[in-house]
Amino acid sequence: PHAGRTALVTGSTSGIGLAIARAFAEQGANIILNGFGDASEIEQNRATIESDFGVKAIYNGANMLNPDEIATMVDEAVETFGAVDIVVNNAGIQHVSPVDEFPVDKWDAIIAINLSSSFHTIRAALPGMKKKGWGRVINTASAHALVASPYKSAYVAAKHGIAGLTKTVALEVAEQGITVNAIAPGYVWTPLVERQIPDTMKARGLTEEQVKRDVLLAAQPTKEFVTVEQVAQLAMYLASDAASAITGTTMSIDGGWTAK
Ligand code: NAD
Repeated sequence: PHAGRTALVTGSTSGIGLAIARAFAEQGANIILNGFGDASEIEQNRATIESDFGVKAIYNGANMLNPDEIATMVDEAVETFGAVDIVVNNAGIQHVSPVDEFPVDKWDAIIAINLSSSFHTIRAALPGMKKKGWGRVINTASAHALVASPYKSAYVAAKHGIAGLTKTVALEVAEQGITVNAIAPGYVWTPLVERQIPDTMKARGLTEEQVKRDVLLAAQPTKEFVTVEQVAQLAMYLASDAASAITGTTMSIDGGWTAK
């Protein structure tokens, strides 16, 4: 359904973003990958998208801290593919600390990467979508766009901000064939989460299963991780024509977390 379209996915060198990029490629979209990581691994992911799905994929390493690099990335995408039809704002980082001890540079970085970068991509990509009369903006929020946890002040503030930005932009473009939505995952099984397990096992004297169930999934009623493929399929639905009436919303995919 997205043959000939172009999807830009920020933070797509791993985890949720990579799964979303691959899912759009599977549906025929050309892809702009973005994010950090090992150069040869990134190149392998890029080349695999091209060979698996017969689309074109380019990589741009724009730092989401830097508005100029973000604007240049959107320009490069338009030069290469003629348009950016789908923007997925997914790059994100976390820092956990009591608010009165929260490092100021971490606060600024989380607000910049998890919130402001979405403003910058939207600002740059929206004029092209308006010209075409079609577009999709999908923001990766979090259950923390709807509820809070202690010691995550910057992350929770940024993700609540994403929910507000999503609503506002949705209203501005509602009559122009462009939808703007956010996805709010609970705990998703990504390398980021996987890497926390050995240390937590050691620190708390727990087995791997106990860490998953009683520490990580304590807030998630299903006691199952959401998978990156499930998140990607929700993004595919939001980008589909069937979802053209859905805009300005933040959709939970959180195993019941925010039902409590
Ligand atoms: P991840 O660490 O696997 O992926 C994060 C991506 O963002 C990577 O590609 C990384 O290189 C990129 N990134 C980080 N800083 C960047 C910067 N300054 N500029 C450009 N790219 C940058 O983590 P993930 O779990 O896949 O997270 C993706 C998104 O999903 C984030 O917004 C995160 O907040 C959100 N999320 C994750 C979970 C979860 O449980 N994993 C739950 C809810 C929401």
